[in-house]
Amino acid sequence: NQDAVASPSPSVSVFGNERRWADTTSYNTKKKLQAWFQLANGDWELGKIISTSGNESVITSDGKVLTVKSDSLVPANPDILDGVEDLMQLSYLNEPSVLYDLQYRYNQDMIYTKAGPVLVAINPFKKVPLYGNDFIEAYRNKATENPHVYAIADTAIREMIRDEVNQSIIISGESGAGKTETAKIAMQYLAALGGGSGIEYEILKTNPILEAFGNAKTLRNDNSSRFGKLIEINFSETGKISGARIQTFIFTVEQSRVVQCMEGERSYHIFYQLCAGAPSKLRDKLHLKSVNDYKYLRQSDCCSIDGVDDAVNFHIVKEALDIVHVSMEDQESVFAMLSAVLWLGNVSFTVIDSENHVEPVADECLVTVAELIGCKVEELKLPLSTRKMRVGNDTIIQKLTLSQAMDTRDALAKSIYACLFEWLVEQINKSLAVGKRRTGRSISILDIYGFESFERNSFEQFCINYANERLQQHFNRHLFKLEQEEYIQDGIDWTKVDFEDNQDCLNLFEKKPLGLLSLLDEESTFPNGTDLTFANKLKQHLQSNSCFRGDRGKAFTVSHYAGEVTYDTTAFLEKNRDLLHMDSIQLLSSCSCHLPQIFASNMLAQSEKSVVGPLHKAGGADSQKLSVATKFKGQLFQLMKRLESTTPHFIRCIKPNNNQSPRSYNQGLVLQQLRCCGVLEVVRISRSGFPTRMTHQKFARRYGFLLLENTNSQDPLSVSVAILHQFGILPEMYQVGYTKLFFRTGQIGMLEDTRNRT
Ligand code: ATP
Ligand code: MG
Repeated sequence: NQDAVASPSPSVSVFGNERRWADTTSYNTKKKLQAWFQLANGDWELGKIISTSGNESVITSDGKVLTVKSDSLVPANPDILDGVEDLMQLSYLNEPSVLYDLQYRYNQDMIYTKAGPVLVAINPFKKVPLYGNDFIEAYRNKATENPHVYAIADTAIREMIRDEVNQSIIISGESGAGKTETAKIAMQYLAALGGGSGIEYEILKTNPILEAFGNAKTLRNDNSSRFGKLIEINFSETGKISGARIQTFIFTVEQSRVVQCMEGERSYHIFYQLCAGAPSKLRDKLHLKSVNDYKYLRQSDCCSIDGVDDAVNFHIVKEALDIVHVSMEDQESVFAMLSAVLWLGNVSFTVIDSENHVEPVADECLVTVAELIGCKVEELKLPLSTRKMRVGNDTIIQKLTLSQAMDTRDALAKSIYACLFEWLVEQINKSLAVGKRRTGRSISILDIYGFESFERNSFEQFCINYANERLQQHFNRHLFKLEQEEYIQDGIDWTKVDFEDNQDCLNLFEKKPLGLLSLLDEESTFPNGTDLTFANKLKQHLQSNSCFRGDRGKAFTVSHYAGEVTYDTTAFLEKNRDLLHMDSIQLLSSCSCHLPQIFASNMLAQSEKSVVGPLHKAGGADSQKLSVATKFKGQLFQLMKRLESTTPHFIRCIKPNNNQSPRSYNQGLVLQQLRCCGVLEVVRISRSGFPTRMTHQKFARRYGFLLLENTNSQDPLSVSVAILHQFGILPEMYQVGYTKLFFRTGQIGMLEDTRNRT
């Protein structure tokens, strides 16, 4: 049926332009076929065309008869194509057809669909019978071809071995779309196939630990990851897992969740788990109380999550800590630090003079914190009530007001927690590095926040969207640019295809000295810099960039690949500076417990590298880490460098509704996400291209032995052509390049089958 449609014109974007379907629509209307029409709410519905006159068509839909404008109709695919497993198979590739195909499959619990080389995964928000050993076996034995995360993981392993190239599985999507679950499913498969040494078990057990410490209930996801994660799983030459390494991307700003979170949200799971699950001996030792006794946990009016047992999860986390070799002693220190953070939140202050200076109240709270971190009460009192300032060569001691003291207390709690998280990741990495050998290969799995656009967008969205802009470029480069360049280089017949390039937007962020990040850092170093002066500076210097628009007041708008986002610069400078008080570092370094000491030295090491901040310039006694944005950019570049040396496999997770509920599919919401990740664009390009390729030599070597008749020539190209003829591969299904053979999708499968059977 494919020949019924002209191939879409290559220079027109698939999205937002249905005009080019006009021709095929008239074909459809003439033939009285099915077509999509749009309801007032934007949803698409299927109708059957009965008659057409002028620009009006009469259609029936669901027993109703309607009159619609003919050119607003979009052709629908024949029923036989209902629920195809690869969108590439659709004859009509338009928005409603793609939405319908995904929905059709979703309704039958087929949550995975291919979009050419990309796997689309729609969150079922319920248990679906698609996982476990039987399914793993089926994919391992190639007994099924249904799209699945397992299939992606399987391809990654095979390609790692076959091509001797490291692989990556890049998972993206909105909050709640299913990235973390998908990453775990991929890990399960890798562990099953590469298992044997026992290290795979440890690797799987890192998940409950990292989720306990890095995930929290948000309004959009009961188990939302508040950090990005790359896990590199190492394999030996024989394809067995030999070790792993985790890199996390954490927002310094997300630390604030420890001391404050929105109503209906929670702090990190581990706090609730500890309060609910700690055995009585530990409770006594750590002076633990229940969740409602802690200000930090009580304030958001949300202590539990439906269907989640924090006490049970505490034991799961503890067991996992055992498995990744965190010693009992270290575990206890970790719990002590958590308890210290909670007690810190309860520390209160009392006014001591007429100038409103305060001192912490020396009650049970303060005493307990001091005991838990291993210092004297007086030592703890000092940084919570005073601050040392250096003026010229003199050090003066400034007393704190109530709000300054509370900020200092909260900053201390946040630092302890952030250090604890980093330290834990480091411990896990030490444990997983045991069997790692440099000679092996690896598969990396990236689970990272997708593009975000809210009513009000702040520094967090600014960083997240910047990262996504980079990842999108990687995606584009890989799927479109490299593809075309390769065709052209190898001299095959190929009509150039345009794709959305986001280099302008990346320049807007990264250009020095006049880019968003440089200007932000610059303004953060000015003592008098404010969010408003920052916003004005942007307007002054960036108006000429087509991706930038200055808005009223403190706002500005960026044209991202996924759409326009308006950022409010309120608190940008403060969040970027991430000020760290020297007095707090000194306190921690003088504690008798080993964790606070490690934390202090890590913080000092970081502050030495650094340079942003007004106080630093004034020679103050406060220390500053690298600016948050700069640190983030550094991590991102490191990540991209690692990804660029791998063969990527992309999984796009889609959230079908905003209520975390099963069986509900919101077309508009899905469409918007498909737009953000360029799924349709990919299908179009892949379908018209030659996604499989192999050098003449490799092809001849791999399949040459299948030749029934000996060719006289040893020349790889002649051998290759002989193979193609013997297997009757149609001329339109392949192209012969200077160095490689290029195939349309699905062509190599038969050869591989024969080869495996032989
Ligand atoms: P965030 O960006 O907030 O971390 P996320 O994309 O990582 O979000 P997940 O935490 O993976 O989202 O998924 C959210 C919830 O959706 C899960 O807790 C689970 O209930 C459900 N879910 C996701 N994928 C699946 C699946 N394959 N099967 C069953 N339920 C799933
Ligand atoms: Mg997640």
